[in-house]
Amino acid sequence: MLFANFIFSIMFIMLAAFSKLVYKICQKCMSVLNILHYPDSRLRIKAKPVKEITNEIKKLVSDMLETMYQAPGIGLAATQVDVHLRVIVIDISEDKSDPLVLINPEIISLDGNQKSDEGCLSVPDFYEPVERAEHVVVRTRTLEGTDIEIDAHELLAVCIQHEMDHLIGKLFVDYLSEMKRSRITKKLLKLQKIEQTG
Ligand SMILES: [Zn+2]
Repeated sequence: MLFANFIFSIMFIMLAAFSKLVYKICQKCMSVLNILHYPDSRLRIKAKPVKEITNEIKKLVSDMLETMYQAPGIGLAATQVDVHLRVIVIDISEDKSDPLVLINPEIISLDGNQKSDEGCLSVPDFYEPVERAEHVVVRTRTLEGTDIEIDAHELLAVCIQHEMDHLIGKLFVDYLSEMKRSRITKKLLKLQKIEQTG
């Protein structure tokens, strides 16, 4: 009986160690997050403000950066990785060396206009012209918890407006004509069906 107890304890310890190892490995693989693709309805969920910058938020930000760089893309909103919090990462630098983290961003002012081709990691391989403000001022919290204002023009201004739309469940395809949007929807649904059936 004692021997059986001993064996049971050893097995339990081994199982615990094994699950800890699996958890560690999974944590490593999870650093590149799954990006939701349009027309997934989860892309329409409105994000909530971040209450506190916890270690989970820091992990989310580093995973989002890794996901964005790997994709590759120049911006990613938490909504796109199915986390419905007001968190955005952006990097418009050529060598991917200038990450910008926006926590609870709010637009203070918008002016001017510009039209440029936009794409989105959630709408892969489609680029369409969208009209946006040329200049945007945003108040945001950094990962260090400081409140700052960002004064952005041109590409950065487009990127900020595009990512902020994600936080309210809006996508760039919403700015297109009904005909263009339904063409994109049909093509993406067809592709997703092919991927699912292998
Ligand atoms: Zn997007």
